[in-house]
Amino acid sequence: MPSAFGVLKSANAVAQERARSKYTGNAARLDAYATPPTEERSIDYLERCASDRYALLRAIDDARSGGKKDEELKKVIREEEERREMRRTNGRGEFDEENASRDATGHFLLRLASSLKEEHERWFVENELELFKYRFGELSESGKESFMKTNGFDDYGAASERDVQEHKNELRDVLMADFEFRKALKDASVNNLKLGEFERKCAEEARNAKNWFVVGFEEVSPLVRTRRAYLIGGRAWIRKETLDQLVFGRFRTRLSLGMKKAKELFKQFEVAEANRLAPLLRAVHNKRSGRAYEGRRAYEGEGTMSISGIEQTQDSFPLCMRQLHNALKKKHHLTHGGRRQYQLYLKGIGLPLDQALVFWKTEFTKSPDCSAEKFEKDYSYGIRHAYGREGKRVNYTPHSCGQCINATPGEKDSHGCPFRTMTSGGNKNGEALHELLTKSMKIPEDASIKIVDKAKGMHYQIACGMTFAALHDGKEIEAGVHTPHQYFHESRNIIAPAPGEAAVATATTAA
Ligand code: SF4
Repeated sequence: MPSAFGVLKSANAVAQERARSKYTGNAARLDAYATPPTEERSIDYLERCASDRYALLRAIDDARSGGKKDEELKKVIREEEERREMRRTNGRGEFDEENASRDATGHFLLRLASSLKEEHERWFVENELELFKYRFGELSESGKESFMKTNGFDDYGAASERDVQEHKNELRDVLMADFEFRKALKDASVNNLKLGEFERKCAEEARNAKNWFVVGFEEVSPLVRTRRAYLIGGRAWIRKETLDQLVFGRFRTRLSLGMKKAKELFKQFEVAEANRLAPLLRAVHNKRSGRAYEGRRAYEGEGTMSISGIEQTQDSFPLCMRQLHNALKKKHHLTHGGRRQYQLYLKGIGLPLDQALVFWKTEFTKSPDCSAEKFEKDYSYGIRHAYGREGKRVNYTPHSCGQCINATPGEKDSHGCPFRTMTSGGNKNGEALHELLTKSMKIPEDASIKIVDKAKGMHYQIACGMTFAALHDGKEIEAGVHTPHQYFHESRNIIAPAPGEAAVATATTAA
């Protein structure tokens, strides 16, 4: 680590450091983070950079989980970048050396911190990619070209005028057969194109060299399959619009490779930095408003819940999991999405594999359509898989609220986030949700109206947090709701003096 970040100083004030240091990294609006900064920095400065970067990515993650996209998401990123002083250019578009240094330092520190756990690694890559997409989208065309040239993306060569003219008829034909291209024309209000007009438009676009890039075949083979890259004259051609996707794909690949290196690097400096940087990095993901927000027992406490405990702690289940539990009890079946969401959640609140197998088998075989043999043949594999005992043996983490919210359940499904599913599609007026909150959960009318309004405004996790408060004497989840199992643990913290243990004790006594 010191080799990656220069010499760490323990006591210097951040202000002094700022005055002395010169950032020599990427002097652009966008950094591909190929090399870490090497300036001397105090441990205080590093700590602030890491936690600011975490806050920036957390804001992005929260916004995405809350259904924000396009302009709304951009606004969140812009404001958070400014608040955290990580915007690499000032108001006049000029390079801001100090901010860029903080941006790069924060990125590399959080990369290291996130490399310690698989779920953090995934979270980091997803949200860094979102930040990268935003910043790339903010660049002018010449800015994008310059970024690609200076960051090793220069093999994405613009097609030459000569090549384009030579292949213009083939390029026209591929455009004519390209559904995405046709759709883009329609979106641009070139509606009701007659065939002749459409052909003319394709020919016009095809012979414009600025529209085309020639790239290495290996990287675009999936795009060839989906007709977003074309093989012409022995080379792969892509449209300008597709180039962004390639850049994002390559950035993601680099980031994933970077995580592997980060893991190694952490091991190397762990002992030397045992009293300074190592604990700082280990703590980054556990900090949110000064407290850990991830369930303390989340899937690490396997064995702290029993089958009878599931029934006895229903009051602590978030709405999504109550819905799944009720559907399972009623139909003695859940479709694939529901099984996966509920299995991982139960694992997240501590149900061990042996009990999970009994629990699911007991419920499923209550249906005349599912014999014990059928259960073993069709469903037990999925449960063992969720616990990492089959297939690639991955220790799968419970779904986050974002994953639940982004699920697209069909009519027969019971999974997803009810604050979304019960305020969208045919449920747009939110009446079903209001009825559920007031009648089944006994939430007062006025509180329910406010919750439903929040959900209708697509603030699903906030609506869920308000529901939590309504059910727990006004006590709120300070850090917000991020995962269903976190909701559970927060609730046990309030309902039972020793969360989890109380549930287990009760469950064990009753079993
Ligand atoms: S916000 Fe999260 S915990 Fe609450 S119902 Fe939706 S998915 Fe479940």
